[in-house]
Amino acid sequence: MPGKKPAKSGSAPQPAGADRQRFFSEHRHEIVNTIRELVEMESPSDDKQAVDRIAAFLAQKFETLGGCSQVHRSDDFGNSLQIDFAGRASRKPVLLLGHYDTVYPLGTLANMPCKIENERLHGPGVLDMKSGIALMLHAIEALQAWHGELPRPVTVFLVSDEEVGSYSSRKITERLAKESAGVLVLEPAAGLRGAVKTARKGVGEYTLRVKGVAAHAGLDPGKGHSAILELARQIAVIAKMNNLRQGVSVNPGVIQGGTRSNVVAAEASALIDVRIKRAAQAAGIHRKLRSLKLFDKHCKLEITGNINRLPMERTAGVAALYKRAQQIASQVKWNLEEASVGGGSDGNFTAGMGIPTLDGLGGVGEGAHAVHEFIVISELPRRALLLAGMIENV
Ligand SMILES: [Zn+2]
Repeated sequence: MPGKKPAKSGSAPQPAGADRQRFFSEHRHEIVNTIRELVEMESPSDDKQAVDRIAAFLAQKFETLGGCSQVHRSDDFGNSLQIDFAGRASRKPVLLLGHYDTVYPLGTLANMPCKIENERLHGPGVLDMKSGIALMLHAIEALQAWHGELPRPVTVFLVSDEEVGSYSSRKITERLAKESAGVLVLEPAAGLRGAVKTARKGVGEYTLRVKGVAAHAGLDPGKGHSAILELARQIAVIAKMNNLRQGVSVNPGVIQGGTRSNVVAAEASALIDVRIKRAAQAAGIHRKLRSLKLFDKHCKLEITGNINRLPMERTAGVAALYKRAQQIASQVKWNLEEASVGGGSDGNFTAGMGIPTLDGLGGVGEGAHAVHEFIVISELPRRALLLAGMIENV
């Protein structure tokens, strides 16, 4: 509350690591139930109505805990949700960052039901990242139980469009990060060992369109200029831009073109995914892609796109947060590992601004974006313990 002197922890005695683990173990079923509720509320990025529904549901959940919710409306995407919690000490808030959109279309639950099997909870979005949202709820609830009120202000920001590039939410994420002491991203942990993510690659997406000249493949083969042939040659050039040792990868993941086998293709296109390890690599790969040269001068090339997320580099601020996380984990004899991963998240934005960011604090499991997506239930208590400790200590 405002006016009170800053305090690192409350006056009431705080439970030690082992007690905290016991606390969350005793609440394990409640955490699982929260995750189930969220998974069973499908929320594909491109279905505004569905995404808005889960936003409203979560606003209510966080308000029950005393948070003040604010819906950031978007016309083109689902609404994003900000929840502010006051805290005892007048410290800068910590920002808990996540997303409730998933890559799964409505109706996925019919073939991929939310179910427990061998102590694993399965379902669309369970790992990426509805379990992370549940961890936020339960860590906040626990801190309130232990301290009487939150030990410091906490801002939760849940976005609607992370899986499709965060175009509607990025500015808000960046503004909230600027006001925060640090950013904790509840995206899935890396691998079954549950490592937190201290580095992520940067991500770009480009579209290459080729216009050729159509002709009858039988009657006038010499008059045509095939967009498909030109695209194939360009792809061979693009493939040479891969430099795995330097952490640069370029993948034409989707190609389209042509109309019939007996027509020289007038149009062809490719979607190209680009990953970079360091921010300094962005300009170089961008320039190379933008300056592709035609093989067939009768064709036309058009390339659009950008590096959307710069890499999350392991800065001193990131390393310091990891060290704190390790200290909290060590209280329950847990050797918390770190990992550098190829996928991007909204943590790339905040780390790119120089705000200390720790990612991969969410659920532990496998199969994000895949039919076997699951989390390991027994990992939940210590993930919640870690998050609670980080909220206190960032
Ligand atoms: Zn995610």
